[in-house]
Amino acid sequence: MEASLLKRRQARERKFCAPNRAGNSLCSWHDTRRERRIHPPRMAPNGVLNCGCTTEEALFEESLARNGVGSYHPGDSVRMDPLLRNALLKLLQSRYGYRDGDFEIDPRTGRWVDGESHEKWERELLSAGHGPKGGPRK
Ligand SMILES: [Zn+2]
Repeated sequence: MEASLLKRRQARERKFCAPNRAGNSLCSWHDTRRERRIHPPRMAPNGVLNCGCTTEEALFEESLARNGVGSYHPGDSVRMDPLLRNALLKLLQSRYGYRDGDFEIDPRTGRWVDGESHEKWERELLSAGHGPKGGPRK
């Protein structure tokens, strides 16, 4: 399960944290906003997106949205404000040791809930045209 968690997270990072054509990687929140990016294109440090959020924070945002947390208008794709999102992530990490994927593990069986295995995420990446070695820089 440990290996699966890691592989799943890596596939998700390639999917959600890869730089766009302009060389910017952005979390969903900042992607919808015109604010100045903290880091110039292709210049974000390792583990950090151009908007200044970390890859962990971007993945957390995606997990929240998939579990119905973040949209405050019905049917809207607005994500949780980074100030709230990042504080909540920190709290969950320090209190419960939260890691990306924890929301998708069935607490009774300790296995992935349907459709959330790392194989499924890796297949999705391949079919979307991301090669296994593509994606964000190391
Ligand atoms: Zn961001």
